[in-house]
Amino acid sequence: MDEAEYKLFRNHLPIADGETAPYWEGAKQGTLRIKRCTACDRPFFYPRTYCPRCGSDATRWMDASGRGHVYSYTVIAHNDVAPFKEWLPYVVALVELDEGPRLVTNIVGCDTRHVKVGQRVEVVFEKIDEAVTLPKFRPV
Ligand code: ZN
Repeated sequence: MDEAEYKLFRNHLPIADGETAPYWEGAKQGTLRIKRCTACDRPFFYPRTYCPRCGSDATRWMDASGRGHVYSYTVIAHNDVAPFKEWLPYVVALVELDEGPRLVTNIVGCDTRHVKVGQRVEVVFEKIDEAVTLPKFRPV
């Protein structure tokens, strides 16, 4: 990927803000962090100040197990933008964590033809640059 392509790619990467910084810091350290509401005692994702179920701001960070299953997925076969075009084909999936919340991610480390709904997966961390490490999942 040349500098112009990287600059374009950088525009597709997440930017940590006050609500999500602990999530991205955790990823850099190899820990998948989600939030739990202490009022209704339920975990949730994506990270935010207020519980999406009961609206309480009594939330705290917790370390997720990093394990779950493929809830749904699609195989991307066409993408002309670098570096995505170099990854073809790749899997974009909705993974349901054992703790309950679902997150959009990639399934890596296997042939895209072998991904299945219900398949057990575990988190792996892919360092993109100094600012961003992305949680992805692989079959177990
Ligand atoms: Zn709640």
